[in-house]
Amino acid sequence: MGCPKALVDSERILTRLRAEGYEVASSYRAADLVVVNTCGFIDAAVDESLQAIGEALAENGKVIVTGCLGAQPQKILDRHPQVLKITGPQRYEEVLASVHEHLPPKHEPFIDLMPEQGVKLTPRHYAYLKISEGCNHHCSFCIIPSMRGRLVSRPIGEVLAEAEKLVRAGVKEILVISQDTSAYGADLNYAADTWRGRPRRARFHDLAAALGELGAWIRLHYVYPYPHVDEVVELMADGRVLPYLDIPFQHASERILKLMRRPAAAEKTLDRIAAWRKAVPEITLRSTFIVGFPGETDEDFEALLQWSRAAQLDRVGCFEYSPVEGAAANALPERAVPDEVKRERRERFMELAAEISAERLADKVGRTIQVLIDRVEDGTAFARSASDAPEIDGMVRIAAAGTLKVGEFAQVEIVAAGAYDLEARPVG
Ligand code: SF4
Repeated sequence: MGCPKALVDSERILTRLRAEGYEVASSYRAADLVVVNTCGFIDAAVDESLQAIGEALAENGKVIVTGCLGAQPQKILDRHPQVLKITGPQRYEEVLASVHEHLPPKHEPFIDLMPEQGVKLTPRHYAYLKISEGCNHHCSFCIIPSMRGRLVSRPIGEVLAEAEKLVRAGVKEILVISQDTSAYGADLNYAADTWRGRPRRARFHDLAAALGELGAWIRLHYVYPYPHVDEVVELMADGRVLPYLDIPFQHASERILKLMRRPAAAEKTLDRIAAWRKAVPEITLRSTFIVGFPGETDEDFEALLQWSRAAQLDRVGCFEYSPVEGAAANALPERAVPDEVKRERRERFMELAAEISAERLADKVGRTIQVLIDRVEDGTAFARSASDAPEIDGMVRIAAAGTLKVGEFAQVEIVAAGAYDLEARPVG
């Protein structure tokens, strides 16, 4: 309800909830919970807002109220004491916290796009931008295609309009997410929309290039190493999107990748990585892996370790395989890997990953880099560089924060490095 500012709030709440896997219902009755974004500008708007809250309570019962009328909670409580929560305008973080409290998001490590910790409140200076839903692949450990259906991309005009609004609302970093970002637009036959006076096709490259015009950091997640990813790496070389690629490789043994039915399994990944690093020496490569997939032998696991030594990925996460109900992998005749073996493999894998990370970070000492400040506490600033996605990667700690402010960019000199994090001091 109300003015464009309320609309931006609604959109931000929706964007965030969609990114976390919540869906928008078509009616109050079909919803698990209702958020009413109110207007309190004139009496008529107050009446209309109170009426909307009453309708939502009658039809659904679980109602969170936000928006301008929320700044006068007593007015709402006098008429509707049973609302779950009342927040004022632009308090979307509190709205999200309340949604989490009353309708907790389920975390599925193999399915969710965001880390478990990622459902914490997003500070205002970064935002997740979901560009599509569903997936056309059939990875045997995954039930996304049966749960969420085949790939459905959002039209490029809609995605860019949302990104533009986010930047206008103060967002400095956009994290592009989907199940398969590099497949964006395939289902739309790459249909074009006009944006900023020019036609833009719904293609991964064109979307990344257009987002790169917004002046924010653009970080790409869940990219598969298809050949056309090379074009996007060129945008990184030009400084239009962050030199950061999050590619869920999941394994390196050909045999296990086949059993997993991974897309692009046959690509020569080490050659691709070498080519990307040649084109963009400062590129950060992040990936996730699964150890202990059914039938994974010592040789398969050694192949993964060997590949990791050669690949020298900057950021790595690793899950022990656990079966997901309804996944095709459950029907594989291969023997399950015992839990203690899975655990031991994960530990060995992460030890190697930590060694590689520490070596790569040590190389950064003495360099001056740009960071985005996430928080400042007791004179210490906690920031991220182009190499660090929020929640899942490392951070840059700046002991003498001085005048550094949350949500602002700063130039810092790296003075020390640990296994995952860096220490820095402000420059200039
Ligand atoms: S690419 Fe594979 S793991 Fe990812 S969503 Fe699609 S089927 Fe699932």
